[in-house]
Amino acid sequence: MHDEATGLKPLEATGLKPLEATGLTPLEVIGLKPLEVIGLTPLELGALMPRDGRPSPTRGKALWRWLREEADVPATTWPESLPELGRNALSELQRHVALPDVVIEERYVSRDGTIKWRLTCRGRPIETVMIPTATRATVCVSSQSGCTRWCDFCATARMSFGGQLSAGEIVAQVLLARRAATVPLTNVVFMGMGEPLDNFEAVLTAVRVLDEGVGIAPKHCTVSTSGVLPRMIDLWERSRASLALSLHATTQELRDRLMPRVKRWPLAALCEWMRAASEAPLNGAKPRHFFIEYAMLRGINDSDADADRLVALMAGIRARINLIPFNASDGLPYGRPDAERIRAFQHRVIAGGLLTIVRETRGDDAAAACGQLAVGRAG
Ligand code: SAH
Repeated sequence: MHDEATGLKPLEATGLKPLEATGLTPLEVIGLKPLEVIGLTPLELGALMPRDGRPSPTRGKALWRWLREEADVPATTWPESLPELGRNALSELQRHVALPDVVIEERYVSRDGTIKWRLTCRGRPIETVMIPTATRATVCVSSQSGCTRWCDFCATARMSFGGQLSAGEIVAQVLLARRAATVPLTNVVFMGMGEPLDNFEAVLTAVRVLDEGVGIAPKHCTVSTSGVLPRMIDLWERSRASLALSLHATTQELRDRLMPRVKRWPLAALCEWMRAASEAPLNGAKPRHFFIEYAMLRGINDSDADADRLVALMAGIRARINLIPFNASDGLPYGRPDAERIRAFQHRVIAGGLLTIVRETRGDDAAAACGQLAVGRAG
């Protein structure tokens, strides 16, 4: 029964199928996912479409131009041919890379022009929001289907966790919003579903692809985190992306109550690191600042004493404060302070020397505002 030379059974005797009959690529057989075309930079794609045995940046860039400007979004078919590539390069590439599996399930348009999409990525539900102003648009992307950080005031915490998105699935959301916007899409915020720093490599890759393939510079990408300190440090060191910390509380006791799944990284440690990172870099590069997000919850974190503690915590940190009036969602046991309280809080923090804005509520009639993103919520 055994092959004399190898000592192995012949394939027919093993019950295993030959590779061609599985429909899988060799990479998939050993458990690796196929590369996704929009999760790769133009140079990486160029390396997969060599010309005369050498990587071809020209081919990589031409394919990215097509993906950006001409392909359907989300892309479901390859081009027949592209003049710069030729048929062979394209069919060779298709052996290695796949189109992302992203499907538009629903689209809601708010009366302020905000658009929210409900998408599925490999069957997992997520949401993406495009927020236009008169001159430019921002897209708010999801980095996970659901989230495992379970902040008490956030609707995403109430849905079940569906898993990590790939870099290509993050980039697909940007391409979709970019195509729908009637003004240039200039900014990307990782403030949709999920904790971006719990999907670190995919987020970092997406930031790089957006820079090189789509033309959105890292400093125009803002990664928002509930406070995963070790990954904040990594992001700061490995990328020029902007970093936003969701603070929401000025005492450890309240933060533990509102954000029980990030207790491991206390306020003191977060602030200590931000203070050190705020010092001018030695290499002469421009110092960077942090964005601090502060959801305003009526009677919980909106007092004058909170404002004063916020100012004290931020001493020595290059911080810009974004106050986010609480957005209601079914079953969330919090309320929004009235406009006067929000203004008083803002003025007190400004008087303490911090640049502070109140984030305008956008898209709330389409349940597209901060903290309202949830799909198939349990209960
Ligand atoms: N997990 C990341 C990314 C989410 S960003 C993070 O925590 O930063 C979404 C922002 O909206 C966060 O600052 C989040 O705390 C805030 N948010 C969540 N629920 C909210 C709500 N109901 N009203 C206002 N802001 C909310």
